[in-house]
Amino acid sequence: MRSTLLILLLIGLGVAVQKGIIEIPRQWAPWAPLHVDDPVTPVTQLKLKRLEGDREGCLAALDTVPESELRYTPLADYSPTANCPLSNIVRMQSSSVQFNQSFVASCPLALAWVMYERHELQPAAEAIMGSRVRQVDHVGSFACRNIYHRENARRSEHATAEALDVTGFRFENGQRITLINHWNDEGEAGEFLRAARDGGCKAFGNVIGPDYNAAHADHFHLGMRGFRVCR
Ligand SMILES: [Zn+2]
Repeated sequence: MRSTLLILLLIGLGVAVQKGIIEIPRQWAPWAPLHVDDPVTPVTQLKLKRLEGDREGCLAALDTVPESELRYTPLADYSPTANCPLSNIVRMQSSSVQFNQSFVASCPLALAWVMYERHELQPAAEAIMGSRVRQVDHVGSFACRNIYHRENARRSEHATAEALDVTGFRFENGQRITLINHWNDEGEAGEFLRAARDGGCKAFGNVIGPDYNAAHADHFHLGMRGFRVCR
């Protein structure tokens, strides 16, 4: 009896949504295309995952970013090395920040980055540091290898350009913060890095940082696998 009522309620809700009586905000509606203006919600990650196999949809979502906030080049699928074919990829040149080096990213990773930067990273920078991030330093996104270089481990997300390793941030006011020097800082630099990590956990499938193990003492691994994994 109770389940019948629940089903009726769900059907009613479905009809109400369909008829536009109830409006579900785009960031909570799994069927609505991802738009970079939308705040990051758990549904955002579902949308990012769906774009893994949808190059056109993913590029269309990237094109919702104003040109002044994103310079990228779509790349054709190719295999930089025999064991690591890349597909649905772009080259990220700059966004609202410069990078120490352009990098190859799966299209969903590029999109997750832009969402992260707009909705988490830059707001945290302004609130905590009183200045926006001007440059992000990283040590790469693509590497044809297994996790931790182990022979019998599964493929790293870096083998498909689905993760970026970030080592530090430079701000418009000239300040520079690195994970290796400031993760344990008790002032605003440390506070900013922890906010940057926590914000990343919303936008990326997983974030692994210095709290997890020594291998990540100097960088955040921002990857697409998983669902809000935060270490
Ligand atoms: Zn990594």
